[in-house]
Amino acid sequence: MTTRVAIVTGANKGIGSAIVESLCKQFDGDVILTGRSEERCKAAVAQLQEKGLSSKYYTLDIDDSSSITKLKDFVNDNYGGIDILVNNAGISNKVGTIGERATTTCGTNYFGTLNVCNTLFPLLNPHARVVNVSSMASQEAISKCSEEMRSKFKQSNITMDELTALIQQFIEAAQNDDHEKQGFFLKPYGMSKLGVTVMTFIQQRLLNSDPREDIIVNASCPGYVATDMTLHKGPKTIMQGADTPVYLALLPPGTSSPKGDFVSERTIENWG
Ligand code: NDP
Repeated sequence: MTTRVAIVTGANKGIGSAIVESLCKQFDGDVILTGRSEERCKAAVAQLQEKGLSSKYYTLDIDDSSSITKLKDFVNDNYGGIDILVNNAGISNKVGTIGERATTTCGTNYFGTLNVCNTLFPLLNPHARVVNVSSMASQEAISKCSEEMRSKFKQSNITMDELTALIQQFIEAAQNDDHEKQGFFLKPYGMSKLGVTVMTFIQQRLLNSDPREDIIVNASCPGYVATDMTLHKGPKTIMQGADTPVYLALLPPGTSSPKGDFVSERTIENWG
């Protein structure tokens, strides 16, 4: 019998490491902790071992297509498919001009996540669960775009190419300091997560007509969590932040809701 497998990106620290810890306790299969640095991945695995938990690791930089392809080949050769994928890796770059921040933040959070999905989705098994870790910042971003821009992101039949073109337009507008005039929200992080949330809606729409049965993808906000990203200011612990992503990763077979939703505190948000 083949071993089931769960993959978590950006899992060497923060919320990702807590998602791995929780999956090690609850998921019947191998859990692969991924991160950019082999050293940091090994240290995270050692910390789990101290708690009596066992995780594999694999290096993955979601900004690097060849790194994503290597992971795909590794998973294909060793497991033949994926049962859980948690796209947790993300950045909130606060350094540089608005154009630079838009480029790097959307580069990792939107384009990196999309690239991981496009590469790994062919391996999803029937009943697979995908969780895209987004943020309430996506909610703020959509609500603060101009009405015209909001309606573009909210088109019920928006395609991935159209979404990608809008995110690309935001980056170029930010580079020219013209993004607010064009109707975009001013913060790159919120815009990148807006992209992740809408990406999720599109992915579920496509998966609904996929021949593989019962694949569910949801976007989630972990809440405001004390991590390096928030300079440890959030009130939630990383285990509390992991709760909703893990709940979504473990949705039982045949779940009809949440499905293609934006979920916070285990509750579907009326997004947008
Ligand atoms: P941390 O900064 O603590 O952890 C981020 C993780 O992502 C690290 O493991 C980091 O690896 C990894 N990462 C960054 N860039 C890449 C990349 N290019 N490829 C692979 N891995 C990468 O952040 P959090 O734990 O707080 O955030 C986790 C997720 O939750 C993010 O998507 C974030 O946007 C989201 N989120 C967080 C909130 C919070 O309050 N903390 C609120 C809402 C959403 P490395 O160690 O190599 O830097």
